[in-house]
Amino acid sequence: MDIFEPDMEDNFRHQGMRKLLVEELRRKGIANEDVLRVIGEIPRHLFCFDTVFVEFAYDDKAFPIGAGQTISQPYTVAFQTDLLNLKKREKVLEIGTGSGYQTAVLAKMGAKVFSIERQRTLHEKAVDLLQKFNLKARCFYGDGYAGREAFAPFDKILVTCGAPFVPDALKAQLKIGGRMVVPVGEFNGVQIMNVLDKVGENDFEITEHGNFQFVPMLDKTDTIH
Ligand code: SAH
Repeated sequence: MDIFEPDMEDNFRHQGMRKLLVEELRRKGIANEDVLRVIGEIPRHLFCFDTVFVEFAYDDKAFPIGAGQTISQPYTVAFQTDLLNLKKREKVLEIGTGSGYQTAVLAKMGAKVFSIERQRTLHEKAVDLLQKFNLKARCFYGDGYAGREAFAPFDKILVTCGAPFVPDALKAQLKIGGRMVVPVGEFNGVQIMNVLDKVGENDFEITEHGNFQFVPMLDKTDTIH
């Protein structure tokens, strides 16, 4: 990646750590070479925002990014991206831009990305960062429960926060033949990774893909930063 700003350094040490991370993900069972290549290319340390954590950016762990939120664990990003089964130029709606890291992964995979974030501070930082990387993604400050009707239908929808249920608007905005990947479950607990394949206007084939822990999908009653 071309990085011109001094505070956007991506040096050999970072690149070396990234290689090790990719190997770790491979060992943990990620076999999708496109996903591994992209994770090997994107400087995750620059998405961790808080410089205190830069040292740890290449551990396979989630980290705080402010506003009570986290950047997802690399394994989770890889796992969800793999489940999406992306084809180039597909339209993808992401719920929970957060740091913008997953957004960058999707854009680098060749998807046309639309992403919604509930926290304004995170939205603004992510937009700024994605621009610096010259990555094209349309980011919106708003409520993921509503999706983005104006740009529907989407080939794929990826939810990166723990949803108490699958929002109807997201089901409606998915193309027939499309796929949604969404962790579903109670707050402060465990979510089950759900894959919904839309086979008819109101018809979904649902499969489950193990337990994960995400920050909760916020609704209107939650505090917004
Ligand atoms: N994809 C992000 C993951 C961030 S964690 C990354 O790679 O960094 C999940 C994000 O979902 C948080 O930033 C949180 O603010 C956001 N979020 C929570 N509820 C939301 C909602 N209703 N609509 C949109 N975003 C939401």
